[in-house]
Amino acid sequence: MSVIVQKFGGTSVANTEKIQKVAHRVAEAQARHPEGVVVVVSAMGKTTDVLVNMAKELSSRPDPREMDMLLATGEQVSISLLSMALQELGLKAVSMTGAQAGIITENLHSKAKIVHIDTDELSRFLSEGYVVVVAGFQGVTTDHQITTLGRGGSDTTAVALAGALKAPVCEIFTDVDGVYTTDPNSVAGAQKLSEISYEEMLELAQLGAQVLHPRSVECAKKYKTVIHVRSSFNLHEGTYVKAMKDLEIQRPVTGVTADCKQAKLALKDVPDRPGIAAKVFGTLAQANISVDMIIQSVQEDLSNDIAFTVHEDDLDQATEIIK
Ligand code: ASP
Ligand code: MG
Repeated sequence: MSVIVQKFGGTSVANTEKIQKVAHRVAEAQARHPEGVVVVVSAMGKTTDVLVNMAKELSSRPDPREMDMLLATGEQVSISLLSMALQELGLKAVSMTGAQAGIITENLHSKAKIVHIDTDELSRFLSEGYVVVVAGFQGVTTDHQITTLGRGGSDTTAVALAGALKAPVCEIFTDVDGVYTTDPNSVAGAQKLSEISYEEMLELAQLGAQVLHPRSVECAKKYKTVIHVRSSFNLHEGTYVKAMKDLEIQRPVTGVTADCKQAKLALKDVPDRPGIAAKVFGTLAQANISVDMIIQSVQEDLSNDIAFTVHEDDLDQATEIIK
């Protein structure tokens, strides 16, 4: 047997009643996995959105460090409440912030990557029989700054912990039954996939499928962790995200997705000289803004248009940089 990592998203812990249900589910897992259960939780319901909106009421461009300080509080509420609910069921449970769980990130606010996880303290709790409840979406830099991993980042916390603890499976509990061919909340005929390869899932996640944070899939692929995406409201088998050989994949199309949070910037009449595009995209890269699609059409004269897309959240900063 081995350690299992379970992650519960915001809708699964939206109120105390739901937190109690999660506690029961974790207790069942604990009975099946005596080696240990690590639970990662998101902020309750729409908490993160509420916090973001409060910050925006005070500032049009809130300081990134303070923003991470603020958003990290959401997950801290859920970990403590879930630990209390578990203790009520008679289990030994302890909550840990990202920093306490040894999740070290790069020095970048609002979308930091995890560079290392020091699992010593966490493993000590596991060996003493505790269920360890870890705050998703957050980490700490080597100089003690609280960082966050980007919206939806709790999935990445869970999968990265599974990798670090050599857990073969990471269960991601969500409000749908698994990964669908398209968003089941908008398309009635969407079908649940029983399994999907890392590569296909990565593509869907990067192109806007909300079900998994893209970096969680990269991480799972790297450490060969199987992700089981399933519903927190029933016991049905969900979707297994795993290594698959091309031969096993019998379908020409796996899924269709849309990203409604893209913004397009267009630069008109850019001098058609080598080095200009490099300056534009190099400067954006330095500010850690990722550019998804670049379109440069052919023109006859000595200038050209360059259009590209960025995430909506990066639009203001990108516009300022480009200006
Ligand atoms: N609470 C964060 C968010 O809403 C992280 C997560 O839920 O995964 O984006
Ligand atoms: Mg999510």
